[in-house]
Amino acid sequence: MKLKALNGFKDILPADVALWMRVEATVRDIVSRFQFSEIRLPILEKTELFARSIGEATDIVEKEMYSFVDKGVTMRPEATAQIIRAYIEHGLYVQRPIQRIFTIGPMFRHERPQKGRLRQFHQVSAEVIGADHPRVDAEVMAMSAMIFSELGISVSLEMNSLGCRECRPAYKEKLLAFLSERIDHLCDDCKRRSSTNPLRVLDCKKPGCREQVADAPSIVENLCAGCDEHFGAVRSSLEQLGVDYQVNKFMVRGLDYYCRTTFEFITGDLGAQSAVCAGGRYDGLVEQLGGPKKIGGIGFGLGLERLVLLLQQKEQDQGRPNELDLFIAGLGEEAVRLCYGLVNELRVTGLRVGLDHEGRSLKSQMKQADKAGSNYVLIVGDDELAKGTGVLRNMGNQEQINIALDAAAIQQQLAGA
Ligand code: ATP
Ligand code: MG
Repeated sequence: MKLKALNGFKDILPADVALWMRVEATVRDIVSRFQFSEIRLPILEKTELFARSIGEATDIVEKEMYSFVDKGVTMRPEATAQIIRAYIEHGLYVQRPIQRIFTIGPMFRHERPQKGRLRQFHQVSAEVIGADHPRVDAEVMAMSAMIFSELGISVSLEMNSLGCRECRPAYKEKLLAFLSERIDHLCDDCKRRSSTNPLRVLDCKKPGCREQVADAPSIVENLCAGCDEHFGAVRSSLEQLGVDYQVNKFMVRGLDYYCRTTFEFITGDLGAQSAVCAGGRYDGLVEQLGGPKKIGGIGFGLGLERLVLLLQQKEQDQGRPNELDLFIAGLGEEAVRLCYGLVNELRVTGLRVGLDHEGRSLKSQMKQADKAGSNYVLIVGDDELAKGTGVLRNMGNQEQINIALDAAAIQQQLAGA
């Protein structure tokens, strides 16, 4: 029997890791410009944490969670709830009233695997906790936009407001009245959603439902004064920062804890998996999870698989790898034996060095060096060995010099070049 990885669980192979690392390095660089600090969190949490925060009547909690039912624990499907859990548990608000925190890691959701949709996927989750100001909402979106633009990826930002505990109930009523007139024309899921979570009917992807809700009342036209002002200020802040966006009244996001600002960064290049980053404000969440009152927050989850796919699609030519600073081509057993020690000394100095142990020809070893994108090759045959020198070839300009088989001399030559 051939053993294979589980469906929806994917190995990230060495050839792809360089790209992942570039993406992660860009993310870390940019979030640090916005004063975010990293937090590292466990994979398992009490199921209750997600049920209470994300909401019982959501896709994630209803059908996507990997839960150990007998143990009451779940593999995290997203990180916001657990970041808030940690924020409360460790009293991070005592040290600093406003926390800017991010984490990068795997999330787990049992959904149908397809391109850009996995059961184990990776997210950057970035949160500003303790800040209510609309400028922060725009700043968080600007940060995400900066990640995309530095990676050379074009996406569009869609934004909406979901109102708050004050104005949403009245809007829900209005929407419900609108939906009940059309209930017979909605899909079965939406018939059910109408009573449990009517806002979610607005983002049903089925064409029949889309048609029915085209003229549905818009939440942004039904906001209370506070939410309306907040929404306006988010918009003008985005404009001040030069972040392009569109208001999408159908974007409600699946999670219960969102209020006011919600947003998604969308691409047209990944088929149905169009959202690369999604987030919003969650002003009641800290209190709901047992933390202090009146601590707002806003954040996003950015899907790394989708980001990497976009980069792979864009960069057909993945470029030459550069795995090594130096490849030592030893010819003959005696040369290889001596080079073996030299390689280790050079590695101690910090150089990335490769060596072949299979007794291959010079031609074959040069090929290996080229494949690894080595900057230099040091050729050591019997003649060289007798003289205690090797031939150092610069793979960029093909220049060759003789050099002593001495770690310090080699290191100096490579550093000076
Ligand atoms: P979708 O509508 O695609 O299911 P979502 O609304 O469930 O996304 P969020 O929970 O907001 O997504 O997660 C934020 C981001 O994480 C998404 O925009 C997407 O890039 C990524 N993501 C979510 N689920 C998956 C998955 N199963 N596989 C890969 N990436 C995912
Ligand atoms: Mg989903």
